[in-house]
Amino acid sequence: MTQVKIKNKFANKFRNGYPHLFKEAIVDIDQLQEEGTIIDLVDQHDQFLGRGYYGRENKGYGWLLTNDKDEKINQSFIIQKISAALARRSNFFSSQVTTAFRVFNGEGDGIGGLTIDYYADYFLMTFYSDGIYQFKEMVVNAIQQLTVCKAIYEKKRFDAGGKYIDDDDFVTGERANFPIIIKENGIHFAVDLNDGPMTGLFLDQREVRQRILEQYAAGKTVLNTFSYTGAFSVYATMGGAEKTVSVDLANRSLPKTIEQFQVNDLDYTKHEIRTMDVFNYFNYAVKNQLTFDLVILDPPSFARSKKRTFSVAKDYVSLLKDAIAITKEQGVIVASTNFSGFNIEKFKEKIAKAFRETDEQYQFVETFQLPEDFRYHPQFKESNYLKVVFIKKLTNG
Ligand code: SAH
Repeated sequence: MTQVKIKNKFANKFRNGYPHLFKEAIVDIDQLQEEGTIIDLVDQHDQFLGRGYYGRENKGYGWLLTNDKDEKINQSFIIQKISAALARRSNFFSSQVTTAFRVFNGEGDGIGGLTIDYYADYFLMTFYSDGIYQFKEMVVNAIQQLTVCKAIYEKKRFDAGGKYIDDDDFVTGERANFPIIIKENGIHFAVDLNDGPMTGLFLDQREVRQRILEQYAAGKTVLNTFSYTGAFSVYATMGGAEKTVSVDLANRSLPKTIEQFQVNDLDYTKHEIRTMDVFNYFNYAVKNQLTFDLVILDPPSFARSKKRTFSVAKDYVSLLKDAIAITKEQGVIVASTNFSGFNIEKFKEKIAKAFRETDEQYQFVETFQLPEDFRYHPQFKESNYLKVVFIKKLTNG
């Protein structure tokens, strides 16, 4: 057991349950050496504040797990946390139409640095530090004890800068024959839990996709930028879109998008799937006077292509301006980001700025943040990272 002294001015924060161990709070950072060490946070008078573990993440040094001095961090602790998380998702487990969702969401479910996703009887653990990875066996045991589970896979996201460590991600059970087909709101998706950092579907956008299907797609032309496997395009098509155009730079995007159309018995040849830079597509659209009823913007927080780098923090306003230019009057832009560096108010300010600078009128229609299964910690709102704003472009003048 290592004692870690917390500076006076932050002591109450941790005493009251704040979960994220950040650098400025720690008196002697050099004492933290071995990833996965259980640590007791104490104030400068050696009074106990809370217990957690040391694990170096992109932005932190570990997580507080309990404020109870008598609580041990061991197998039964892990079982208890995962069991409570599963109980909170009992509605999801009994759903007939959705078979993929998050079952454990880091500090929101009591253990920062760990998430667990469920994909139709397969579990995917994601470890965000070498420290939490030291608890892997306990997590595996807990999943096996508490669930019906065909196999468990893992993602290790603790290389430099929080990058994914490329590996065979199979952990235990009977290997799946990927892709497996999961359901979300009754729509099928092919997913692969052992093919790099991503699975084919980002589970946190479930409600946004459903909303597009129900409310925004019928009879519309849809441009889906940064489209990845085309999940938004498939939903829009299921919602009666006249046509979708999916644009993504990555070569894998084309076959993966075709596959998602096919597993839903949709004719992909009626749609465009383009392997190209979104910014080149905007130029092409302007040149050819193409406009859309619905434009979806869901870029990665940071991306580097051959010609340019894009960062949400610096470039979202300009991305929006490009989108505004090719959105029809009365059309809708779905602006999304998972960048945790700003909140939804700040994001709306960026949207307002983009419309101001293009001299167009707009109206915020509705917003989405994380769905219920992506539970967040009440004292750590930064983890509610998803921000999705539906904006209507009004008729000018
Ligand atoms: N919107 C997607 C997820 C996007 S993931 C969904 O809902 O499933 C980010 C995607 O952006 C990746 O597939 C990546 O290949 C793509 N990308 C990054 N930079 C790009 C660029 N400049 N032009 C087109 N696609 C880009």
